[in-house]
Amino acid sequence: MTVVKVLVVEDEKALLKVLKYNLEKEGYRVVSASDGEAGLDLFRRERPDLVILDVMLPKLDGFEVCKAVRAGGAGARTPILMLTARKEEVDRVLGLELGADDYVTKPFSTRELCARVKALLRRASDRGAPAAAPLRAGGLELELEKYEVRVRGGLVTLSTKEFEFLKILFQAQGRAMTRDELLEKVWGYDKSMEIDTRTIDQHIARLRDKLGVEAARIVTVKNVGYRLKTD
Ligand code: CA
Repeated sequence: MTVVKVLVVEDEKALLKVLKYNLEKEGYRVVSASDGEAGLDLFRRERPDLVILDVMLPKLDGFEVCKAVRAGGAGARTPILMLTARKEEVDRVLGLELGADDYVTKPFSTRELCARVKALLRRASDRGAPAAAPLRAGGLELELEKYEVRVRGGLVTLSTKEFEFLKILFQAQGRAMTRDELLEKVWGYDKSMEIDTRTIDQHIARLRDKLGVEAARIVTVKNVGYRLKTD
């Protein structure tokens, strides 16, 4: 069974601690941030199953974080439970513009909060069987079925060959692939074909360019080929 990951974004240290303690006691894995920017960044990198989001936060408030989560990509449907301090915030929280899934008003009991979390997760899993989990290495994500690659949440456009290279490196799970192996897998290379192994290096260079901040995940193994840094 996979562990459910919950992201908590809350700037009150004491409350964050209590939430973390109680959620972990329920068996969830908790990642946390204490401002909106860090929270959004963490959301994109960690792909949590649920987000608990305070409204009033430094840097980027909970409304902005919620909007950004809903606006983009694969995580757009992740359940969001908002923590509000004032009644006036509630309408906005549940409004169409933001689309949070639920809220609790401070102060709340952790028992109540955990019950809401459970209900939201149940609802999310009822929405149908999830697609096969994407392959991941740090902030790099590859979805085989959709032919999609994301770098820290942002979609990256790759050529078919570049995608194939990346897929093969992922599937090797950190093992080094020789240039010959790569040639064979990507082009179905046989010795009669004249493809220079340097072609591989050119493709890899382009792929690295496109992977930007995650480029260093593709490691050159001297005199051998390439491997994907998965940790
Ligand atoms: Ca706050």
